[in-house]
Amino acid sequence: MSGTQAKVDRLGGYLAGLEEADLRRACGYLTGAAFPAGDPRRLQVGWVAIADVLTEITGTTQEDLHGVYLAHGDLGATASALFQEHPPAPSLFPRPLTLEAVDGAFGAIAAAQGPASRRAKQSVLRSLLRDAAPLEAKFLVKTFGRDADAVRQAALLVADPGEVAVRARAGTLDGVTLTSGSPFRFMLAGSIATLDEAFAGDAAPLLVEDKYDGIRVQVHRNAGRLVIYSRTLDDVTRAYPELHVPLEGLARDYILDGEIVAWREDRPLPFGQLQRRLGRLTPGPLAQEVPVVLMAFDLLHLDGRDLLQDSLEARRAAMTGLAWDESVRLSRAAPARTPAEAEARFHEAREAGHEGIVLKFPQASYQPGRRGRLWLKWKPGLGTLDVVVVAAEYGHGKRARVLSDYTFAVRAGQGLVTIGKAYSGLTDDEIARLTAWFLAHTVEDLGRVRMVEPRIVLEVAFDKIMMSERHTSGFALRFPRIVRLRDDKPPEEINTLADAQDLYRRTSGASPRERRGKERPSGA
Ligand code: AMP
Repeated sequence: MSGTQAKVDRLGGYLAGLEEADLRRACGYLTGAAFPAGDPRRLQVGWVAIADVLTEITGTTQEDLHGVYLAHGDLGATASALFQEHPPAPSLFPRPLTLEAVDGAFGAIAAAQGPASRRAKQSVLRSLLRDAAPLEAKFLVKTFGRDADAVRQAALLVADPGEVAVRARAGTLDGVTLTSGSPFRFMLAGSIATLDEAFAGDAAPLLVEDKYDGIRVQVHRNAGRLVIYSRTLDDVTRAYPELHVPLEGLARDYILDGEIVAWREDRPLPFGQLQRRLGRLTPGPLAQEVPVVLMAFDLLHLDGRDLLQDSLEARRAAMTGLAWDESVRLSRAAPARTPAEAEARFHEAREAGHEGIVLKFPQASYQPGRRGRLWLKWKPGLGTLDVVVVAAEYGHGKRARVLSDYTFAVRAGQGLVTIGKAYSGLTDDEIARLTAWFLAHTVEDLGRVRMVEPRIVLEVAFDKIMMSERHTSGFALRFPRIVRLRDDKPPEEINTLADAQDLYRRTSGASPRERRGKERPSGA
């Protein structure tokens, strides 16, 4: 029997023995999620707070913890190693760590609010961990530091893994389709460097749509119930009350995919305007100040029929029959046969105030949770900046022992100002070479981070330059990645703050104040 098969068998045996509530919990925890998908609760316990509890109950120091962390590159593995070496003293009345107890503790941690919340959260975490075995400690801690991606991969059609498990046990997995009122993972677009790339092979014609700069949502309407889910699968229905009536009128039962965009007088407003409405339960006066529309670009379910497996062409055809409105609109889409035609569409989209275009294969089905090549996004290339590395930091996972994360700067007069941080794009060999160089040219050793002599020049690409307080330049780069090491270029010749300002002026339509805070978490 293969190792994987043995694991599957053991896991299957374990799950089969659980009653329903525990089955839901166990499956959620197996994916690293503390709460079911769509559940708004968050643990919100920072790295430092966890590290404090770990050192306290194992009687170790922060230095011990950092040493172990550097070797493992993962706080969960660090917890397990610390527990093995320094088992915590058992509590007076040890409690077994049941799924129910973990659920209760997570609930209490998420519920702690206000100024004393950190201590309250730490106290629950302390009692949870005190009775844990090293392996249990490892996975409990991992749940706190979980990566959203791990959860995202768990279930695509029904985003809640507990729900998937319950269906699996009921033997209804084959019949799993989208469920109205239960969010699924969005289909995402891949990137291209040139329009030719999109038309390579036998692709033409492609459907070209405007790329709206707003927030991605899915709308479920079923039996009179309307729910709008955000990209993070949170219920944001109440945040957009002005869309409710037009959404009610659109069709009887449906699931739509689209983008909410701030909009006035038939033009999109900058994302910064929409951002003012994010994170609010209800909009209040912002509903008037920042009006929104929904640009729908896909339909996954209509009146009892799933359209996931249909072609995009067929899904678009089904959409034309819906009762669209001024504030709930069908996205603009037109076929393009050549890169030149797509380029013309791109210029139209930019003139209409949009970010760029998305090119879609008309024959493609809807693939939840995939960032594939069936949808391709094309935005204006900003070119690149040449920058110098001023600080280097240890990475995570397999990069825990190398200096792989670089903070970089541009020139400002005789000095340097930071503008971004990047950790992707170099090969392992290049990183190893740079690590040796940085270790030998450290100006100040801060533990995880080393300030280094500003001599290593990198060329970095990025999606956008924006105003930000995070770096001393007053700018930040969105999605920076290292294009190459510029061994050929001396640090005296890197780009300047004036270059960055110029780039910013040329590429952002809005005034600096409007664009401030443009940067958003990837969940937006
Ligand atoms: P990015 O955020 O740059 O990775 O671009 C992908 C995002 O563009 C998607 O997740 C959508 O939120 C958004 N988007 C805007 N317009 C469209 C469109 N017409 N089709 C698909 N996605 C779109």
